[in-house]
Amino acid sequence: MSEQWLLGVDLGGTTTKLAFLSQNGEILYKWGIPTDNSNDGQNITINIAESMEQKLSELKLTKSHLLGIGMGAPGPVNYEKGIIYNTVNLGWPDHYPLMEMLQKATSLPVAIENDANCAAAGEMWKGAGNGSANVLCVTLGTGVGGGIVANGQILQGYRGAGGEIGHITSVTEGGARCGCGKTGCLETVASATGIVRIATEEIQSKKNTSGSLFDLYQLNGRISAKDVFDCASKGDAKALFVVEHVAHYLGLALANIASTVNPEKIVLGGGVSLAGDVLLKPVQTYFNKYVFPPIKDYTSITLATLGNDAGVIGAAWLIKNHLK
Ligand code: ZN
Repeated sequence: MSEQWLLGVDLGGTTTKLAFLSQNGEILYKWGIPTDNSNDGQNITINIAESMEQKLSELKLTKSHLLGIGMGAPGPVNYEKGIIYNTVNLGWPDHYPLMEMLQKATSLPVAIENDANCAAAGEMWKGAGNGSANVLCVTLGTGVGGGIVANGQILQGYRGAGGEIGHITSVTEGGARCGCGKTGCLETVASATGIVRIATEEIQSKKNTSGSLFDLYQLNGRISAKDVFDCASKGDAKALFVVEHVAHYLGLALANIASTVNPEKIVLGGGVSLAGDVLLKPVQTYFNKYVFPPIKDYTSITLATLGNDAGVIGAAWLIKNHLK
């Protein structure tokens, strides 16, 4: 029999991504199914098992062709016990035995992990982390997620909440309310939502009623994070002010984490990171200002390269690493 494959699963609130990968982390087949969170989430693992069987049968293969399944799920995970804590939006009760349920449904070895940690492992293994054993990965999307790979292993922490970078209190005065209940979290500044909020507040303050960002707001009645970065690239003063503000707090948070865990590579992913150099350069400037000086020249900040595939690739790494 040829080399066995890995199944990587990236569970999202609306879609579950699946992929068969080689043991070297190359995606061979990938597909998606809707996430059915009705019936207390009891259908989720059954649907994954059925979809896996169906794909194998299309390829005229059997389960013996798979080495095991790695899965990333949104919520704090106890990796050793394979349980996931309070994930209300998926319907599961607190302390849900996800690993056991997926093993029962598939009769294959399973390892589970938090989804942001899986994405970090994916970027570490096959993406911008380039195989480095010490990688900090930050996803700047609707929210801010993160994962830390230290000494070649995912840093889970005591309650599976290691790497929750989005909820570092980054703004001390007058911070906005965060979904987690606190104020001033990094997520309220460096997520797409946060950037739009800061830019809208800046425009509505009417300190300066000119420029391309102001004009876009007047035209559309709203602006996006992409508008902010596009206008900043063209030198718009308001947009540059917003980007500078975001980069300041993001650079500060990254510097503090780097001074604690000393990553070799910091990888920025998610929709906001598509802004590229217009964000990366000021973040690097603030990072250099705040980081512990002896590590400054030995820490690189780069953009993620795997996009939406990071989760399934990291999940495959997880089960490979688990079985090793
Ligand atoms: Zn928060």
